[in-house]
Formats: sequence, structure tokens, C-alpha cells
Amino acid sequence: RFITFEGIDGAGKSSQIAAVVALIESRGIHVVQTREPGGTPLGEKLRELLLHEPMHLETEAMLMFAARREHLAALIEPSLAAGKWVVSDRFTDATYAYQVGGRGLDEARFAALEQWVHPHLQPDLTLIFDLDPAVAARRLAGTGVAPDRFEREKTDFFERVRSAYLRRAAADPQRVRVIDAIQTPDEIRLQVEAVVGEACFR
Ligand code: C5P
Repeated sequence: RFITFEGIDGAGKSSQIAAVVALIESRGIHVVQTREPGGTPLGEKLRELLLHEPMHLETEAMLMFAARREHLAALIEPSLAAGKWVVSDRFTDATYAYQVGGRGLDEARFAALEQWVHPHLQPDLTLIFDLDPAVAARRLAGTGVAPDRFEREKTDFFERVRSAYLRRAAADPQRVRVIDAIQTPDEIRLQVEAVVGEACFR
């Protein structure tokens, strides 16, 4: 199975991924944990460029999908074929949310790239950590980590990213589940475990 985690920066998804990986491993299943952009040596180099180098929006979108093509070929598809589960911190829904929703990439171009790079594959389950961008910004500010090119964007950018995520969820409610990330980490973990248990272990 292929499970992806999504949400605006600061929504707390990263801290929940470890818990889900542990939950799956406790069932004796081999899990590959990965992230986007990244997940392969080439993908991590592209990530560095994407996070720090200013570029044209379509360049950004194509590099995201180039990194994803490599990720699918080198890690995701072989792992799934070997019967392992793959848990990824972000995937194509993030490109829809950030590049289409946040930055205004043409939706037809996005759809063409998605169709090119993975015409037949979608995650089995996607968890979107949904949170008011103002709250997420306060959480990020509290970490003291230097913000990347995306995290320096303003609240209205993240409002657009958030609504684009929610549109993706509404378009495919069977695959995409929305987690209310305003709650405490323990409460969120219970929500996440319930969703993963229901979707994957029933
Ligand atoms: O989740 P993580 O913080 O590792 O993501 C790295 C950065 O890349 C984030 O700031 C995220 O907003 C951005 N990103 C993006 N478009 C994507 C995937 C990630 O703008 N398709």
C-alpha cells in the first residue's frame, strides 16, 4: 500500500508520520518511509534547488514532477512491487495545492504532467492535515528553524494552498481524508490511527 501525508507547512504532519510507520511495522509489515521533493539521491538534489533557488513557476512544476518520476522509478514502484508499504511525506496533491492553488499554475498543465508521470498510480490513502494558516505560522515561528522559499510566503498564499488541498479531498473522498490538525498531538494521533486502521487494516 501507498500512503501519503499532506498539509500546509506547520500543520504537524511530520511528527505523525513516525507514529504511523511504527503502527504499520507493529503488524510485521515492511515500510519504506520517504519524502517529496526528494526520496532519491537525484530527488534530494532537486529538492535543494526547489527550496532555495528562485525560478519560473512552470520550471518549478516540472522539476517537482521530474523528481517524482525518479522517485517512482527508483523507490516507490519497486518497493510496492516487492510487497512493502510506502509512506511518503507529500506527493502529487502537494503540487496541486502549492503550484496550482498557491501559485496559480494552469490546472490543465498540472493535469497533463500528472497524467504523464503517473497515469495509473494514485496513493491508496492520503491524509491531509488541515489547519488555519495563522495557527500554522505561529507553530513554525516557534520552531526557530530557518524558513525555506515556500515557508516565507504570506498567510493568503497558505489560505489558497489550504483550499486547494480541500478541493482535492472533495474530488476523491475515498482516497483523501482530512485530519483536523488544530487538536493536540495526542488527539491528532488517535484520529490518524483510526483512519489508517479503518482504511488499511480492516
Ligand atoms: O514538507 P516539507 O517541509 O519537507 O516540504 C518542503 C517544502 O516544499 C515545503 O515548504 C513545501 O511547501 C514545498 N513544496 C511545494 N510544492 C510541492 C511540494 C513541496 O511547494 N509540490
